[in-house]
Amino acid sequence: MRALLLTLIAGAGALHPGSPRAQEPQDATAAGSPPAVELLHLANEGFLIRAGEDAVLIDGFLERPYVGYAALSADALELLAAAEAPFDSIDMALASHVHADHFQAGPACAFLNASPETLFASSEDVVAALGKECAPLAADSARVRTVLPQPGEAELLRQGELSVEVLRLSHGTGRFAGIQNLGHLLTIGGLRLLHVGDAAMDPAHFAPYDLASRELDVALVPYWYFQSGPGRRIVREHFHADTLVACHIPPAELDAVVAHLALEFPEVIVFRESLEARRIERASPAADAR
Ligand SMILES: [Zn+2]
Repeated sequence: MRALLLTLIAGAGALHPGSPRAQEPQDATAAGSPPAVELLHLANEGFLIRAGEDAVLIDGFLERPYVGYAALSADALELLAAAEAPFDSIDMALASHVHADHFQAGPACAFLNASPETLFASSEDVVAALGKECAPLAADSARVRTVLPQPGEAELLRQGELSVEVLRLSHGTGRFAGIQNLGHLLTIGGLRLLHVGDAAMDPAHFAPYDLASRELDVALVPYWYFQSGPGRRIVREHFHADTLVACHIPPAELDAVVAHLALEFPEVIVFRESLEARRIERASPAADAR
């Protein structure tokens, strides 16, 4: 079992002492170029992010379509359940929240049983759902971690060069108020990627994390952010990412969403297929200085 450090950070201010971006190119130069980062779309808001020997899966355990949102194909599920390529050597598997368009316990248990090196980390709700399907595994603290920072706070998961800051971003009000939704800020291959789960489009929820100062390279964003005033404001004022990806698109609406984005946000990337991969290009130093 690889060593993994779990740190509780009280207050988001502690998340960025100094300038992480300024340090990374020096480290990268000393150790040679950082490995390329590949983003593999799974289904809905599920992605596998891989750079060299580091790999993180988020929201990818999707066996059955749910309320119009896609799941993995039967072939992909077979590979996932066997932890075979592209699902081999995954360091961490994460889930934003317990809704079935983001997490399903069956494929999660199958994968974790087949991939004993993978750490699974998620909220109390998700870990409880996992426990209903595979209780011994969910109770093994070396394999499964419960992470549930308070709103505005973060917890850090770290493994070698790979680090994941787990954020608490509200799913919303009313029937969504009790849903424990997590955002994930990954540092992998020298790049910083944000995945927000189903975070409500309230700028106040993002403000404590000061994401604008974190110099995001990639933000994986539910497509409805690009269709509403508050969502656009969050993308513009908080994410500041070089690469924006619109995801969580129901297959039945894919063409309409792509058409809308092409008109208003032509720079935004949409993955049309499951297991479609993209290599994330590093921004040039000039672009970094923006
Ligand atoms: Zn949800």
